[in-house]
Amino acid sequence: MSEYRETLHEDYGQFFKVDNMLHEVHTELQHLVIFENARMGRVMALDGAIQTTEADEFFYHEMLTHVPILAHGLARNILIIGGGDGGMLREVCRHSSVDSITMVEIDQAVVDMCKEYLPNHSSGAYDDPRVNLVIDDGMRFLSNCTDKFDVIISDCPDPTGPAAVLFSEGFYQACHRCLTDNGIFVAQNGTPFLQLDEVKTTAANIKGLFADWHFYHAAVPTYIGGAMTFAWAAKNTETRQCSLEVLRQRFIGSAIVTRYYNADIHKAAFALPQYVLQAIGKP
Ligand code: SAM
Repeated sequence: MSEYRETLHEDYGQFFKVDNMLHEVHTELQHLVIFENARMGRVMALDGAIQTTEADEFFYHEMLTHVPILAHGLARNILIIGGGDGGMLREVCRHSSVDSITMVEIDQAVVDMCKEYLPNHSSGAYDDPRVNLVIDDGMRFLSNCTDKFDVIISDCPDPTGPAAVLFSEGFYQACHRCLTDNGIFVAQNGTPFLQLDEVKTTAANIKGLFADWHFYHAAVPTYIGGAMTFAWAAKNTETRQCSLEVLRQRFIGSAIVTRYYNADIHKAAFALPQYVLQAIGKP
């Protein structure tokens, strides 16, 4: 294979020159490939959809981690759903204030292959004593879960195959039940220019459930179609309203060095274009 064509959209897409195919396997659940591309570094795809690249993964992982954790201010227990490439785990582990991190990934093969072929993503995070890796379906885990988390991060693929359930009404209800009183849920929610229905469906599911809900965004080059939205659903309204000054102080206090996230980006990311506001019923 000399090039990899993404098949996420039938009529529009991107391709990558494959300089070196590192791994290709049909796991029990999905088709997994990891290859090298001179511009984007190592690239991982599942079932025809690019999941992550070494070159731009920091946009995505920093925004899904530092936004909720710093907005919360006192997050101790974190749950990651999905995240098998390890990038989200690495970013959460950088918060020394966090006591425990549970990651629930459905496919052991993704974890194993990414540890081997994408080691910079996890960067040793699996060895962190605060980490508890659970191989299970995120929905099943939450249905049986009696623990409470301060932040839940859904680092899921698009809503097909095993990930479809992570966009269901029942999933958001289970996340709401497993959050502490000031808890925050965030989730990958597609690029609205191409996947507006995904945003509409999530908005419909979270609006009656959480005291505060919205979306924020970042343009991640790998996820084609412009800015990607991240769902935000919180048990109180204060966390989203956290001031720029407080976010700046918390960020400095964390001593985390980022490449994308800063407090100004954090605040600005919640300003949405009009067509997205209209779609979610907040024009
Ligand atoms: N960043 C990517 C994106 O934007 O599309 C997604 C990251 S990828 C690591 C998502 C992970 O979710 C995959 O490893 C996949 O195996 C896992 N996953 C899919 N369905 C799941 C489910 N029901 N429960 C837990 N993990 C799931």
